[in-house]
Amino acid sequence: MRRIGLFGGSFDPVHLGHLLVARAAVEEAALDRLFFIPAARSPFKPDRAPTADAERLRLLRLALAGRPEVELDDQEIRRGGYSYTIDTVREYGRRFPEAQLFYLIGADHVPTLAQWRAAEELARRVEFLMIPRPGQPVAAWPPGFRGRALHGFPLGVSASQIRERVRQGRPITDLVPAAVAEAIRNYHLYL
Ligand code: ATP
Repeated sequence: MRRIGLFGGSFDPVHLGHLLVARAAVEEAALDRLFFIPAARSPFKPDRAPTADAERLRLLRLALAGRPEVELDDQEIRRGGYSYTIDTVREYGRRFPEAQLFYLIGADHVPTLAQWRAAEELARRVEFLMIPRPGQPVAAWPPGFRGRALHGFPLGVSASQIRERVRQGRPITDLVPAAVAEAIRNYHLYL
């Protein structure tokens, strides 16, 4: 049975924290394939419209280039509107009926799981892989959810921190892949 990992998020922008999550999940959970799935819009971030889809996708393509273990899936962007994980997970269930599905999640999101749409069905369909995030206590799984914590390579970088640094004119070298930093500069993003 194939093991497929799903990694959803705003990726605004993608950063090294995300790439290290992916590296850890592929290795520690022995995933055969891992998909990065950028949300059109997160129901948990209603106050901030994300950067244009095309720009976030451009940065993701640059970040994932040359990494055969990870793939980009733009289905949530194509659907548009608020993105609900259950819709995406159902689609993977149809596409890979024989596969075992794993959903990657940072420790900060674990306490919110019970509020995700169709939480019971989601808990049935996927096993969660939690990556520790510095400064975030390791939360217990809400009742009904199956998951395990990975060791990962805990790194306290966040997309909001990257956006803030760009606005302040501070370097983001070594926090995002070089090609991503260059594109952020060239396309005048996050100013
Ligand atoms: P923002 O700062 O804008 O809220 P973010 O850096 O948390 O963004 P998202 O795109 O919202 O990034 O995150 C997608 C997923 O990746 C979430 O499950 C989040 O918890 C996880 N994640 C993001 N950064 C890290 C990190 N440094 N370590 C572990 N998990 C992370």
